[in-house]
Amino acid sequence: MIVIGGGVIGAATGYHLAKLGRKVLLLERDFPCAGSTGRCIGGIRAQFTHDLSIRVMLESVKMFSELEEELGRGVDWHQGGYLFLAFDEARERAFKEAIAVQRRYGLWVDYVGVRDCVRLVPGLDTRGLRGGAYCPTDGQADPFKVTYGYLAGIKRLGGTVMTGTEVVKVNTRGDRVVSVTTRRGDEHHAPVVLNAAGPWAAEVGRLAGVEIPVEPDRHESLVTEAVERMFEPMLVDYRADGCYFVQHIGTGHFVGCYTPEKLVPGLDTGVSDEFITEMPRRMVRLVPRLRGVKVLRQWSGSYEMSPDGNPVCGPTPVEGFYVSGGMSGHGFMFGPAVARLMAELIDCGEPHLALDQFALDRDYGRREAMK
Ligand SMILES: Cc1cc2nc3c(=O)[nH]c(=O)nc-3n(C[C@H](O)[C@H](O)[C@H](O)COP(=O)(O)OP(=O)(O)OC[C@H]3O[C@@H](n4cnc5c(N)ncnc54)[C@H](O)[C@@H]3O)c2cc1C
Repeated sequence: MIVIGGGVIGAATGYHLAKLGRKVLLLERDFPCAGSTGRCIGGIRAQFTHDLSIRVMLESVKMFSELEEELGRGVDWHQGGYLFLAFDEARERAFKEAIAVQRRYGLWVDYVGVRDCVRLVPGLDTRGLRGGAYCPTDGQADPFKVTYGYLAGIKRLGGTVMTGTEVVKVNTRGDRVVSVTTRRGDEHHAPVVLNAAGPWAAEVGRLAGVEIPVEPDRHESLVTEAVERMFEPMLVDYRADGCYFVQHIGTGHFVGCYTPEKLVPGLDTGVSDEFITEMPRRMVRLVPRLRGVKVLRQWSGSYEMSPDGNPVCGPTPVEGFYVSGGMSGHGFMFGPAVARLMAELIDCGEPHLALDQFALDRDYGRREAMK
């Protein structure tokens, strides 16, 4: 079978298919992690509001915790938790409601008071703070190490990974997929083709005449110099001028992002003065002792948004042509579990956890909180 895309989703799904005995050919236009995966900051959490996302992420967190053993190499997995801060009553209420749902699925998560927030993040500025939603089992890992680990696994299991190989045609006979053609003009035949093209999922879908409702928008990020360890959780501030950031445990660098109020649609991966001015201000406002820590670099990448902010995973109207995309900014963390479920779906039609709520032909409704 053929996987289009060498980001975390394509690599992980290819790996699980190879484990199930499928002969995998993964085709990547540029190089591994050239898309969103190489621009991601590596956060992993199970604190969601959508029930399938919670269940998938409970599996993913467990898989991350076992990944070094599974792949036979380090992935810098660290369980430092996520702390979502509440600065108003509505947010506090929303977190408490979400926690009630998350606990029903067995997630270890609590609403903690201001004193506990400061214990978790020494030096946190508590002005206006009411408390926070804290899950100690959330964490972080290295997107490059994870993706390269899966790709090595595909090769170890007899599969092939071709980089610098762009798919320009998805060929069908009747209503079923039969092959793909690359820009070099080579044709590769397979009865199953997976579209794991991340922000380019809609583009690759159109090669097969399938509409995939995934639209990219730009998200900027920065990394600071390495400093001594200050705190472990990913800190998330959902205010209109909020941000989220974490200290990488292995290296001491802080990495962080915010969602711009005015979205920048499209595949542009430029950077802005606004971000590099605003982001440090927002970080220092939350944790004043970060003042003076130098920013090393800024960059941007694409979130691959679906209309409701949930993944788009499953079959398409073209038989044998599948999609796993629309991760809406959470593809790294979803990667391991979604990949195993998609591999099971492709292999035998029935994953151990039904993915219907992520189906391409679902009613997309509206976007929820805690996305
Ligand atoms: C700034 C930033 C921070 C983020 N932080 C987090 C985070 O903390 N946690 C988290 O879970 N997620 C995070 N994300 C989101 C995450 O990076 C993505 O959801 C995830 O990487 C998507 O993986 P993917 O494999 O679907 O896509 P990609 O990594 O984009 O891979 C798709 C690949 O397909 C290839 N491709 C495209 N078209 C073709 C073609 N025609 N032929 C062959 N190959 C093709 C591309 O070259 C690309 O390598 C972040 C994203 C950004 C931008």
